[in-house]
Amino acid sequence: MQQLMDILLFCVTSTAFVLKQKLTIPSHKEAFADTTNQQKLVEALEQGTTLNATENVCTVDSNNVPTPHGHARSQMRLHKMWHRATYIIIQHIQGEEPLKDEDIYLLVQRRSNIKDYCPSKLDPTPGGVVGFGESYTLNATREMMEEMNIDVENGVNEMKYLFTFPYQDEHVKVWGGMYQVKYRGKLEDIKMQPEEVSQVLRLNLNEIRQLAQDDPDDWMPDGLHAIKLYLQYRHDHLLKRRLLKGYSHGNLEKYALRPKPQVIFFDCDDCLYFDGWQLASQLTAKIEEWCTTKKNLPPGEAYELYKKHGTALKGLLAEGHMEDCEEEIDSYLRDVHDLPIHEHLSIDEELRNLILQIDPSIPKYIFTASVRHHAERCLKALGIEDLFVDIIDVKSCNLETKHAKSSFEAAMNIAGVEDPESCLFLDDSLTNIKAAREVGWRAYLVGKVGRDCGKPISSEHAEHELDRIHDMKKVLPEIFVDQD
Ligand SMILES: [Mg+2]
Repeated sequence: MQQLMDILLFCVTSTAFVLKQKLTIPSHKEAFADTTNQQKLVEALEQGTTLNATENVCTVDSNNVPTPHGHARSQMRLHKMWHRATYIIIQHIQGEEPLKDEDIYLLVQRRSNIKDYCPSKLDPTPGGVVGFGESYTLNATREMMEEMNIDVENGVNEMKYLFTFPYQDEHVKVWGGMYQVKYRGKLEDIKMQPEEVSQVLRLNLNEIRQLAQDDPDDWMPDGLHAIKLYLQYRHDHLLKRRLLKGYSHGNLEKYALRPKPQVIFFDCDDCLYFDGWQLASQLTAKIEEWCTTKKNLPPGEAYELYKKHGTALKGLLAEGHMEDCEEEIDSYLRDVHDLPIHEHLSIDEELRNLILQIDPSIPKYIFTASVRHHAERCLKALGIEDLFVDIIDVKSCNLETKHAKSSFEAAMNIAGVEDPESCLFLDDSLTNIKAAREVGWRAYLVGKVGRDCGKPISSEHAEHELDRIHDMKKVLPEIFVDQD
């Protein structure tokens, strides 16, 4: 790594400009305090002797709404006020546009030692504090020109707005505007603003990851957060995953880093297997038969109860056709699920191998609208009954419909998970996918043909859609440990 750094430093320091920059900095050292010392920084902020101390900057509330008159930069820093800043991924492109992480080079700044925030730290997403009355885009355009001599309006170096995100720690509260610039010029044409920048490094994405991991304290923390968000965003784009509205605690305007999944919930029927809905049709017929023979209900009434109450069982109970006692409920559930599963399902080695390749630290549950013993029989027939922590069934959900909010809460309770964003969910039902997204789960639709309509289906609430469960590695590669 040291060798790599030497090469990179040589690349940068060999330009004529850096010599000029080295000559310029001492005068600033005299003018401004050494802000790497926290106590001296506070004194300098109080005295208004930090860099650009009186500049009126765009302070905001915690929802990114600007305050009426802004605040002096030194006051914003001193009182750790929410404010706006731009974070710019500067990709240096020479020739063809690269696709792989090891070929994608970013220009990373070493901040000057007189900055009023994170002096001398590495900044993977240069930018600046947005001025009062200034837009994010205007700021990003100005900062690129002032700090780096990069013209983003010349029709060659494109600049693109990506998203907005909040970041806060003990030192800073900021609403970041994330941009991407594709710089197609020469490295030697980069002209650093000496007050702001002491060095520019050209690093590829893998090198940035490695350096940040080796010495995180050498990087500005909000910049590190921003680059992690960017890498997540890039990953989502490459996999064509939907960046959903309501994504990550609100909407895309409040883009947040997703936690590692803590649990995966798999639906059972028509998701872990697909038999052309034969078992599903037999189940429907069994329910109809049970209602007409055991309860003397007219033909079609079972379906009416289902439509009105979400499940036939709920309808039978609500309309007094069935006693609300465990014995009778169990007998109903046992009878209607008495299906010839082995005639339809068989061992699925491909599925078994796939599930075995999933990160073993992520627990896997079956989350089904049916009953435990039915799911157990299906899993056994498929040869995967030993791969799940537990089965969450209709009884675990207090006989509620699967798409009820309380059912998702019950599932999270059983799995011992609190953050909905850390729940991955795979299901074939559009209703379940929509409901899962509403509670904040990350949902994936399995099966792209509708049972009732026989036509292609799609869900705007799903991050992605799969033809079959066996394709899940293509859309969720990060949860697999075996990357063959
Ligand atoms: Mg299903």
